[in-house]
Amino acid sequence: MSDRFDLVVVGAGFAGLVCARVAAERGLSVAVIERKQEPGLQLHTTGIVVKEAAEELQIPRQFTRAVPGIRLYTPRLRQIDLESPGYYFLATDTAGVLRWLSGEAERAGASLIYGVAFESARLEAGGIILDSPALHARYLVGADGARSAVARCFGLGVNRRMLVGVESEYVGVADIDPDRLHCFLDTDLSPGYLGWAVPGVGVTQIGLAGRLGAKPSADGLAEKLASVFDFSRARLVERRSGPIPVGGRVQPVATENVLLLGDAAGLVSPLTAGGIHPAFRYGRRAGELIAAHLRHGGPDPGSILAREYPGYRWKSLLRHALDCDPPNWLYDWTLGLPPMRALAQLIYFHHEGLKSRAGWRALLRGR
Ligand SMILES: Cc1cc2nc3c(=O)[nH]c(=O)nc-3n(C[C@H](O)[C@H](O)[C@H](O)COP(=O)(O)OP(=O)(O)OC[C@H]3O[C@@H](n4cnc5c(N)ncnc54)[C@H](O)[C@@H]3O)c2cc1C
Repeated sequence: MSDRFDLVVVGAGFAGLVCARVAAERGLSVAVIERKQEPGLQLHTTGIVVKEAAEELQIPRQFTRAVPGIRLYTPRLRQIDLESPGYYFLATDTAGVLRWLSGEAERAGASLIYGVAFESARLEAGGIILDSPALHARYLVGADGARSAVARCFGLGVNRRMLVGVESEYVGVADIDPDRLHCFLDTDLSPGYLGWAVPGVGVTQIGLAGRLGAKPSADGLAEKLASVFDFSRARLVERRSGPIPVGGRVQPVATENVLLLGDAAGLVSPLTAGGIHPAFRYGRRAGELIAAHLRHGGPDPGSILAREYPGYRWKSLLRHALDCDPPNWLYDWTLGLPPMRALAQLIYFHHEGLKSRAGWRALLRGR
């Protein structure tokens, strides 16, 4: 294998693999370096894919299960069902999805180098020199997650506001409605976010997230859920955890011949904490722009994406509200009211979220 590439992508996650695949399909020589030993190991995500992301990438059916609606639970466990005609979420066998994405990138011609961590690199005339592994790239993409080493190395923006999420995976949980994502609002257990139970692909995923420093209570959630679902035959099969950047897009996201992507760029909804859709969407866009730039002298990808990446202004405002830890009585009191129900509907089901006109119309009508 040559040590010279048009594009080196650091991180074989959702964003990096989509970017690598698209750039390789467009004729670039591409390498992906990933510190994990294999695709799909040591996951740190629930892996729920929203409908728009599912439409972006045709994930093979064996790795997914469609879930049409959401059940929100107030702190006192009052239930509110939300759905929208034609909308769905995909619960995923996330390890399977990452193995599939990795295979797709390889089939497109990218070289995937697992078990190697990016440490440092420098810009020199004609490209980027990576020290370890020793590679030369005309262009470098940092898709290496919330605590990006590429961002630090090139003095780019870093994520400062984080949630921390923890999740346990079980087999044998009974009495859980398989057609709902079950979401539990409880400021005492998950300050700044919520808890969830996802009837996934052959397993049930139970987790919660909270502000970094205000530790979410996994034991408290388990105790609470024991009164909602039947755990009498449940067996724990895996645990995971990880940071979720919710401070919005970092600044700057690019410098000469270097671009941040996915969590590294802060492309995660500050409100829902979903980052897989932006990882797919901008991974594809970055692959296209870098190929057009390197092959045909197209415009600088970093300048274009700095304008195109979402700013999450409205969602960041609502994130501030959540960070004030709304008291549990407020959730219990307001969540069943039509305007709150409509707001939840807007957040979860409208493609453009808070920018959706149809969603706001419904909200103002209190539906
Ligand atoms: C508990 C939890 C649950 C979540 N649930 C959801 C959900 O259901 N739906 C959703 O949309 N989002 C969810 N998210 C957020 C979502 O997982 C991320 O937004 C998404 O994974 C971002 O993809 P990415 O490719 O940018 O980064 P990552 O998935 O973090 O991938 C980065 C890759 O870079 C590698 N890497 C890091 N440093 C180096 C290095 N120095 N050298 C080489 N490789 C390196 C990592 O090993 C990793 O493979 C969740 C997050 C957490 C923590």
